[in-house]
Amino acid sequence: MKVKGKRFEGKVAIVTASTQGIGFGIAERIGSEGASVVISSRKQKNVDEAVGKLSSQGIDTIGVVCHVSNAEQRKNLIEKTLQKYGHIDVIVCNAAVNPTTDAILKMKESVLDKLWEVNVKTSILLLQAAAPHLREGSSVVFISSIAAYQPPASMAMYGVTKTALLGLTKALATEMSPKTRVNCVAPGFVPTHFANFLSRNEVVRNAIEERTLLKRLGTAGDMAAAVAFLASDDAAYITGETLVVAGGIASRL
Ligand code: NAP
Repeated sequence: MKVKGKRFEGKVAIVTASTQGIGFGIAERIGSEGASVVISSRKQKNVDEAVGKLSSQGIDTIGVVCHVSNAEQRKNLIEKTLQKYGHIDVIVCNAAVNPTTDAILKMKESVLDKLWEVNVKTSILLLQAAAPHLREGSSVVFISSIAAYQPPASMAMYGVTKTALLGLTKALATEMSPKTRVNCVAPGFVPTHFANFLSRNEVVRNAIEERTLLKRLGTAGDMAAAVAFLASDDAAYITGETLVVAGGIASRL
């Protein structure tokens, strides 16, 4: 990864679901630009490994186990951050689930609840707890999806929760201004564990690559670069916006 600037010197960033994939890429990018980074996910082993990888790159980091649906663990995430660093400048809400390919009208209520809870509600609850500790000039970034714009049949309700994040971005940008900017990144297709159908199925992968104008899948680094831009002072006059990072796959005008 080639990083030129140090836009986050002296800043503290929390990234949820950040022990692999896009979240890890975001933590690595922001950390390599000078931020102290708080890593988290459900499993201690994953947290320890991610902290080890970032520390070995000279990034100042701590790791906290936090299943975003667990109220105690969310509280602990904020408390551990404040104990160590005293304030928060950046929060990236990256956790999401996509547990089923069921159609919306066939979906069990428990699955509907889980999608809403992990993909939308827990980010709101985390921000409620964090808001009093956010500094002037702070920044929140949600991770939505290209699926937000035209939810595909195989991930329809997941897509709808990601559409909700576009609205949440607008609403919280109003509510948290002028102290905090709130923006969103909508990734295209990135071959992570979450999207393992991309590495498992060559036909699907080729078809998606063809749908992009740039004729390739995205990388965690592509997403991290966009998040770092929005979270940094380079985007000081941008709030309430969603940046689509999908290689040119059709989203909206
Ligand atoms: P990933 O590579 O599978 O990584 C998921 C991360 O989340 C892991 O660190 C995992 O660690 C953690 N995690 C899972 N459930 C969690 C929970 N309930 N609470 C806290 N941490 C949790 O996934 P990804 O592809 O990077 O996805 C990240 C975000 O990008 C999601 O919001 C997803 O919707 C979005 N996105 C992805 C794509 C894509 O093509 N990959 C496209 C559009 C949008 P543990 O197992 O230790 O918890």
